[in-house]
Amino acid sequence: MSEVKGKILFTKEQIEARAAELGAQISKDYEGEEVYIVGTLRGAVMWMADMMKYITNDAEIDFMMASSYGSGTTTSGVVKVKKDLEGDIYNKNVIIIEDIVDTGTTLKHLKAYLADRNPKSIKICTMLDKPSRRLVDLKADYVGFEIDNLFVIGYGLDYDQKYRNLPYISYLEG
Ligand code: 5GP
Repeated sequence: MSEVKGKILFTKEQIEARAAELGAQISKDYEGEEVYIVGTLRGAVMWMADMMKYITNDAEIDFMMASSYGSGTTTSGVVKVKKDLEGDIYNKNVIIIEDIVDTGTTLKHLKAYLADRNPKSIKICTMLDKPSRRLVDLKADYVGFEIDNLFVIGYGLDYDQKYRNLPYISYLEG
C-alpha cells in the first residue's frame, strides 16, 4: 500500500455512497425519461463511473473535454472545447457530470455551448463544489460535496496530470 498523498477529505466509500444517493435522486427526477450523460474529461471519469451505476433510466453516454486551466492551480478564464460530443443532443435530457465547480467559468461556458443545440433540458451534477470561489453565476443541480477553498486531488482530479488515480479525494497543504 503506497502512502497517502495529502490530507484525505473523502474516502472511496463516502464518495460511492453519495453517488448512490444522487443517482437515486436523478433516477426519480427523470422517471420515465431517457437521459444523455455527458462526462467531462479527464477529471470526471471516476465520479461518472460511480454515478452511472446508480442512474436507472435508459441512458446514453458521451464525453467532452474543455479546458480553462493550464498546468498550474489558477484559472485563466479562457475556455476551449478540445473534444466535442460524438452524439446529437437535440431534444434530449442532458446531464453534465463534472469533477469540480470552482470559479464556474468552465461549466457556464459548456452549458451555453450545449444549450445552443436545443436539448430538452440540461442539468449539472458535480462531485465537488467550491461555492466561495465562484466568479460567474452558475449553480450545479446535483452536488456531491461542498468544500472550502482547497486545492484537491485524487478521484479523477490532478495536479500536473498526476494523482488522478488516487481512490480518495485529498488536499495538498500549501
Ligand atoms: P472553473 O472553471 O469552475 O474555475 O474550474 C473548473 C476546472 O478547474 C475543473 O474542472 C478542474 O479541472 C479545475 N479545478 C478547479 N479546482 C480544482 C482543484 O481544487 N483541484 C483540481 N485538481 N482541479 C481543480
